[in-house]
Amino acid sequence: MLEDKNQATSKLEDLGEFGLIDTLTEGFENKQKSTQLGIGDDAAILDFGNEEVVVSTDMLVEGVHFDVTYTPLKHLGYKAVVVNLSDIYAMNATPRQITFSMAVSSRYSVEALQEIYSGVKLACEFYNVDLVGGDTTSSLKGLVLSVTAIGTAPKEQIVKRKGASENDLICVSGDLGGAYMGLQILEREKAVFRENPEMQPDMSGNEYVLERQLKPEARRDVIKALGDMKIVPTSMIDISDGLASEIMHICKHNDCGAQIYEDKIPVDYHTYKAAEEFNFNATTAALNGGEDYELLFTIGQKDFEVVKGLPGISIIGHITDKGAGMNMVTRGEQHIELQAQGWNAFKNKSE
Ligand code: ADP
Ligand code: MG
Repeated sequence: MLEDKNQATSKLEDLGEFGLIDTLTEGFENKQKSTQLGIGDDAAILDFGNEEVVVSTDMLVEGVHFDVTYTPLKHLGYKAVVVNLSDIYAMNATPRQITFSMAVSSRYSVEALQEIYSGVKLACEFYNVDLVGGDTTSSLKGLVLSVTAIGTAPKEQIVKRKGASENDLICVSGDLGGAYMGLQILEREKAVFRENPEMQPDMSGNEYVLERQLKPEARRDVIKALGDMKIVPTSMIDISDGLASEIMHICKHNDCGAQIYEDKIPVDYHTYKAAEEFNFNATTAALNGGEDYELLFTIGQKDFEVVKGLPGISIIGHITDKGAGMNMVTRGEQHIELQAQGWNAFKNKSE
């Protein structure tokens, strides 16, 4: 479907490693005061003054985390950066620099890699981070991307997974399940295309969920809104693996339980519509789908009035004691236990 960039002509070996690095990193400009020295030496030099530094890395493997038959390479570069920035925001910190590393097979042309880097550049510009290094090497098969993001925050502002206490309110930003439904549509159209290459993929009406999958954003705006209101969440995590899994992390780190309400989980209309098309439960997509890159955080009761008024934030439940476990109250008022790998709709605690 989208392989034309890979069919471009310039071969990696003609350019050489250093020529390639120069070509890819051309046009990146450093904007952060803390970037003393960027690409070009044996190491970058960063100076953060008195702020605490947070660091996060993610690796993306072709065929495991992404599929280049339906992922535009520019989007891939953009997403690889954004998912790392999301981790930095989830610490209530500001991302400052990234490094971007690649293992590339000879199947990829110079143009294809430049396309990836055009997405990296767009993300760097939009989120105001500097690309200060990376590594470029070959792989026998497929593409592997590894991004490290570096951020800073005043010590008292950093929010960890640990810190929530009983009766704290559980909040999520944006809406959930969309990225998963987008993936289902892409997989379906890929299967159709394989069967019959004459058929054009039918994506119409599903733009929202496709965008959620292919071009996620990190919630810098949520961190800013909380900061403007002087709210420091008691705990926070980004939602990369689905709401259920992230709530479990929060409970584990805080030795507590949680109760959430199905009717409070934010799900976009388009996600419902796509789920319906697949005869799939939209709540399951929200709980177990993943890749939404929204923020899950807890706040003290004292902050309820303020957070209630913030647009795009949903209060979905509260922290309980450990003994109460992790439960979701369904629309039908059943109490269902949240499960590590999703939830079992047939297990009713009240029976
Ligand atoms: P070394 O041999 O010390 O590992 P390299 O030749 O790999 O150095 O890298 C030279 C410079 O280019 C370094 O600053 C490195 O961080 C940067 N660099 C290498 N690959 C990439 C890449 N894919 N993206 C951005 N910067 C890169
Ligand atoms: Mg190197």
